[in-house]
Amino acid sequence: MLAVVKEKIGPGYVLKEVEVPVIQEDEVLIKVDSVGICGSDIPILKGVRQVPIPLIPGHEFSGVIVETGSKVLKFKKGERVTPGLVRNCGKCLPCREGLESLCDNLLETGIHLDGAFTEYVAVPESTLHLMPDNMSFVEGASVDPVASAYRPVRKAGVSPEDVVVIFGPGPIGLYALQIAKAYGAKKAIMVGTRESRLKLARELGADETINIGEKKEDPVKKIWEFTQGVMADVIIEATGVASSVEMCIQSLKKNGRLSLAGIFHEPVTISQLDQVVRKEINIQGSICYTWKDFQSCIDLISAGKVKVDRIVTHELPLKDIAKALELIDTRQAMKVVLHP
Ligand SMILES: [Zn+2]
Ligand SMILES: [Zn+2]
Repeated sequence: MLAVVKEKIGPGYVLKEVEVPVIQEDEVLIKVDSVGICGSDIPILKGVRQVPIPLIPGHEFSGVIVETGSKVLKFKKGERVTPGLVRNCGKCLPCREGLESLCDNLLETGIHLDGAFTEYVAVPESTLHLMPDNMSFVEGASVDPVASAYRPVRKAGVSPEDVVVIFGPGPIGLYALQIAKAYGAKKAIMVGTRESRLKLARELGADETINIGEKKEDPVKKIWEFTQGVMADVIIEATGVASSVEMCIQSLKKNGRLSLAGIFHEPVTISQLDQVVRKEINIQGSICYTWKDFQSCIDLISAGKVKVDRIVTHELPLKDIAKALELIDTRQAMKVVLHP
């Protein structure tokens, strides 16, 4: 089968024929239909993020079960499924507390073990979710990023009483926006740097947008205006850009909730940490998702409350991965889905 393989430490990957994986007794073999390129796949392919070598990356996928191991109980050949990437041990303290993505022995499909930038992939039954009949394979391959956006919104406890501000109109931010609206947020405001993305945010339900890039708008001032001086109840930080955190803290009202979803790859300096104390700001982190979060997102997509078709801008055959990466690099594509 044709696969994208990370063979060496450092930049680059190869596209080559490899053996179809042999499944364990608790695993199923999935014929991949669709696999999305995640922001986290880029540093793996570029060799910036270390992974076990050789590795087939790719974790945002959907497909059909073609083989089941002897101990697989609930799933059958021919079923359309999408697996979560979290393979938790089920035994450690975080696992026993229901915090699967915080498992002490966590393994992730496509990051620690072979993933879906190929034709067939073996995954444990415990990671599987059945796709409803009305869900397309592209939607199925989008549940992973939706779930990564769902967890920070859910942990912030978004309700109809809340003005929710989202920093970062990338896939995670645009999904967080739709989920916040699905949870009834009375007002959702998107903060970004490019009008094209902010226009999309408005089309996907943002009540207001703030352009801190091209238009150099001041987010704190704008949020003050949009809320008649009340400020934001909840902020979802989905940029991972260090300078955004201080804007978030200033934009929150007293006792507001800051939910961090972006991953910071640089030190974050906050000149006014006392504001967190004085305003009793609640700061919350989120990483990946649980099985239950993932299932909730299948329900949200299936019910039409979260739309993926505007986020997935390009679909290409797997062999054209170089072109796909180029489209992402030059910011022509927001989310590319590959078909092996
Ligand atoms: Zn992902
Ligand atoms: Zn565990």
